[in-house]
Amino acid sequence: MSFKLLRYHYQLQQSKKLNKEILKEIQLRRLKEIISHAYLNVPFYHEKFEKAKIKPEDIKTLDDLEKIPLTTKAEIQSTPLNYLVSRYVNLNNCDRSLTSGTTGMPLTIIIDRDYMDFQVALFARTYFEDGVKLWHKMMRIVDPLYLPKKGDWYQKIGLMKTKYVSLFEPIEKQFSIAKKYKPDILRGFSSQIALLAYHARENGEVLKPKIIFTSAEYLDKASRNLIESTFLSQLFDLYISTEFGLMAWECKAHSGYHTNIESVMIEFVKDGEPVTDGESGEIICTNLVNRAMPLIRYDLGDVGIPTEEECTCGSTLPLIRLVEGRTGDFLVTPDNRIISPTIFFPYPFNDVEGIKQFRIIQEKKDKLIIQLVADEDFKRNELALEKARKEIWKVFGENMNVEFQFLDKIKRDNERKYRKIVSKIPIHLT
Ligand SMILES: [Zn+2]
Repeated sequence: MSFKLLRYHYQLQQSKKLNKEILKEIQLRRLKEIISHAYLNVPFYHEKFEKAKIKPEDIKTLDDLEKIPLTTKAEIQSTPLNYLVSRYVNLNNCDRSLTSGTTGMPLTIIIDRDYMDFQVALFARTYFEDGVKLWHKMMRIVDPLYLPKKGDWYQKIGLMKTKYVSLFEPIEKQFSIAKKYKPDILRGFSSQIALLAYHARENGEVLKPKIIFTSAEYLDKASRNLIESTFLSQLFDLYISTEFGLMAWECKAHSGYHTNIESVMIEFVKDGEPVTDGESGEIICTNLVNRAMPLIRYDLGDVGIPTEEECTCGSTLPLIRLVEGRTGDFLVTPDNRIISPTIFFPYPFNDVEGIKQFRIIQEKKDKLIIQLVADEDFKRNELALEKARKEIWKVFGENMNVEFQFLDKIKRDNERKYRKIVSKIPIHLT
């Protein structure tokens, strides 16, 4: 495993500075391979290609990708897993990840070992580009569902030591762990890190990590300013999704996000057409590495802007800009504690069987409404609802009233924006 990882690391170090045309050739080769694999081995894609009368050999250029119909989250959700995974995959060697992403639609994503190794190498490239050293100590705030089962080999020999802290710990506890551990690197969900900065500022507490990585939600200017001015650290935002891993990242020049074109092909589409340079479009992604469960032209639900600009850092990996999206409101408990929207992932429904979509609305300081689109079995499952209510109480306290509403459909806020977590009593950290 470690040998493969080093090989990937070496390859990625080479490719970050390759001529753009060569990078495109690498991407096209990988794209053709994954399309052919999906057509031959994944029933969902075989059927999709047949319906659209497309054969893998019709994809000769990167532009030909447009011929393939989009894949939506709703399609993935309504298709049995055995139709979505490769017929040769050994699920025992794969990881299962759950996402409820931007849209609040729970999905299971299967990822294979090779892809996991490739992701580790991609993260390593970004870390090193952004100034992380092997001897740095990292603290990560994570969903406890995804705590690593065992440490990586390099951690066992004392490199890149990492401490994991649950995002469900009260913010005071997260901060006191950080103060004691004194991490060089702090990594977590954007809203969580903003909340830590807010806590530090309000309580006159000091923490000085050298580098901060944020991810998972759109990092607005105000949160960025709050984090940077409180911790006086360098902040790098990462564009990550469960489906595609580390897709794009900020370098020291901060002139946008460099895309990992070795692992993901990103298209920007508006009304079904590709947008021009500098124009914003829906982000459509194709995973070029994960063969266990290929995702081709998958509508991620985010909005971004492609740009031909060259970065002053010297990397030729193309730049993109991200547009507001993936946001959720901060919530508040009846006893005035602020709660980050990130926690709802898949909390409070740790078993999401039967849930098609959900949205949390804070109606009043002591009232949460949980809107659900669910199948009939789930609606009758009072135990599941009671369990979810108790999970809510663990975080918000028993004075929080919880009301469940079953709907046929949850509407978007507007054409582009969907907020999974909405508060009618807005909290501003800045
Ligand atoms: Zn750069």
